[in-house]
Amino acid sequence: MPELPEVETIVRDLNSQLKNKKIIAIESRDKKVFGLAARPSRRALNKPIKAVRRRGKMIIIDLGVNYLLFHLKMTGQLVFKSKSAIIAGGHPLVGQGGKLPNKFTRVIFKFNQGGKLYFNDLRRFGWVRLVDKKGYSALTAHLGVEPLSRGFSPEFFKKFLSRKPNTTVKQALLDQRYLAGIGNIYADESLFAARLKPFRRVKTLKPAEINRLRLAITRILKSAIKRRGTSFSDYVDAGGETGNFVKYLKVYGRAGEKCKSCGGSVKKIKLGGRGTHWCSSCQK
Ligand SMILES: [Zn+2]
Repeated sequence: MPELPEVETIVRDLNSQLKNKKIIAIESRDKKVFGLAARPSRRALNKPIKAVRRRGKMIIIDLGVNYLLFHLKMTGQLVFKSKSAIIAGGHPLVGQGGKLPNKFTRVIFKFNQGGKLYFNDLRRFGWVRLVDKKGYSALTAHLGVEPLSRGFSPEFFKKFLSRKPNTTVKQALLDQRYLAGIGNIYADESLFAARLKPFRRVKTLKPAEINRLRLAITRILKSAIKRRGTSFSDYVDAGGETGNFVKYLKVYGRAGEKCKSCGGSVKKIKLGGRGTHWCSSCQK
């Protein structure tokens, strides 16, 4: 699932293309993904887009009074295509050869000044919702602090961890109710950067280790955004770039390979059902 850096990258790209444009038509091809039925709601049409933003792993198109919310989940992908630009984010779609729309296209948004936004989803776990302020609050209420906001302070992090003394530190980081946007990749990478074993119980962490972890999370997320996330996308954006943080991954997806710090072997275990990557000599 795309995590904070990948979602932030597509949000920034979309914002540069869609800000001030208006949606002039919506074609919903799949009621499960976007339950607009046959008639597109007028609430979304012909309203200038104020901004495209992110909250946790959600993408938000701000229409002023109403909002379009997208969640890419396991296999969702967004592609904006106009005469001058093609930008894409989320999961790659294998075997479609960049054809748009394709058999996995669930929703199409058409804009004034040209261009279309395609929401593609192979397995249909992703969704799009059109909501007002109340609906927006309901869908985002369960999300915790943004790790790149001021709210992610030393005090907050200490308090957050103190509520989960018996949880493993990795599982604590994945709890979206407290901290929004971190998933499997960036939890493993942050713990490696902080030199902490993923399965340490939270109550065993010393204040210096907690501080090191908080700083590592911020540093890793910022670095990944700068490199446009860990993308395996088929597409390149208008500047010809794809997410290249994959080159900088130290442990995630590298089970059995050499640790980039000590030369030992990167290990993989299951923790709370999630594949967890770590180095037994670098992480304590
Ligand atoms: Zn190592």
